[in-house]
Amino acid sequence: MNKIIKKCKVCPIGCELIIFENKSTPSGYTVEGNSCGKGIEFGIKEITEPSRILTGRVLLRNGTIKHLPVKTTGVIPKDKVDEVMKIFNTVEVTGPIKRGDIVIKNILGLGVDVIAARKA
Ligand code: SF4
Repeated sequence: MNKIIKKCKVCPIGCELIIFENKSTPSGYTVEGNSCGKGIEFGIKEITEPSRILTGRVLLRNGTIKHLPVKTTGVIPKDKVDEVMKIFNTVEVTGPIKRGDIVIKNILGLGVDVIAARKA
């Protein structure tokens, strides 16, 4: 039986997921190593529909640094990653910024926000 090991990126705990092919389940896969149910969904999606939590930087005016590190609050489908990164490159925010402030709400209508990864 094939097994694939992936790190769950849904939360900072970062469980090591072991994903097995299993034709007798509806998804065709079984996930082990997850500490919660979100890991199962993430693990199966990584195999069937790869996606990523994205990190990047946007231009910051009037802040303590020139570029503000940002990250998405959820996974971005792989086919949308380039589009999201292009948006990061065009966005400017004005400080002061608190960690967790929303920088882009509902990016590309994906139901995922882009937030500040640090104070600046
Ligand atoms: S499986 Fe659950 S607890 Fe583990 S990293 Fe994923 S979301 Fe976090």
